[in-house]
Amino acid sequence: MLRSLKNLVWKNMGTKKQGLFIILSSPSGAGKTTLSKKLLKNNKNIELSISYTTRKKRPLEKNNKDYNFVSEEEFEKLKKKKYFIEWAKVFNNYYGTSLIKVKKINNKGKDVLFDIDWQGSRKIKKKLGKNVVSIFILPPSKKELIKRLKKRAQDPDHIVKQRLSFYKMELSHWKDYKYVLINKNLSDTVKKIKTIIEAERYENFVPVKNLTKQKIKIIYEAKRIAIQKKNLIFKKIRSL
Ligand code: 5GP
Repeated sequence: MLRSLKNLVWKNMGTKKQGLFIILSSPSGAGKTTLSKKLLKNNKNIELSISYTTRKKRPLEKNNKDYNFVSEEEFEKLKKKKYFIEWAKVFNNYYGTSLIKVKKINNKGKDVLFDIDWQGSRKIKKKLGKNVVSIFILPPSKKELIKRLKKRAQDPDHIVKQRLSFYKMELSHWKDYKYVLINKNLSDTVKKIKTIIEAERYENFVPVKNLTKQKIKIIYEAKRIAIQKKNLIFKKIRSL
């Protein structure tokens, strides 16, 4: 099944409208879920890969919209059936990405948005490789992250504490990503992500001869954002 997804991506090169595989990862509380919602709003070209999880539903979450909430037994069955393109244990719960759903979105020529952790990102990159765009979101400070986790107020105290205990480990994976953004201001971060996506579409799908000055400008803007990762982020990361 995986091979057929890869074949499909290659086969469509130059013939059908193609889509990117966009990965958003971050330590819990950096604002990734809010960012994905903003990104999906009024953007018919991107669809979220709704994951399966054994985690308990939060009060404001909706089944089949935020996640497909399943029992451990159901998750295990799906795993055995090779239903997931990737799955991982995160904070003592299981999370998995449906291969069929990814394929469906990709078949429509749309971008697939993955809100997944560093383990999932590694597997998606390995399995899909080409057309994968990986973005890591950092909070402006640890203080701000704690504030956001508490403000969300949908998790009990012991869960917030548990998530904070994973913070440094999760943070340490930022280097695996092509783009690293500090989410200080929500609309600025959304704007940067949109620029990255636009640039990656041009770079991946537009023949060089069709790249206009405007398109090249956007590609450079995204490259500038990627370079920031090396300079700015190195210093920043020590303070987080
Ligand atoms: P939360 O419980 O806060 O919704 O998510 C916890 C973590 O699991 C987040 O980092 C989220 O991105 C990640 N996650 C959500 N779905 C998946 C998935 O299908 N696969 C993997 N590997 N991680 C996921």
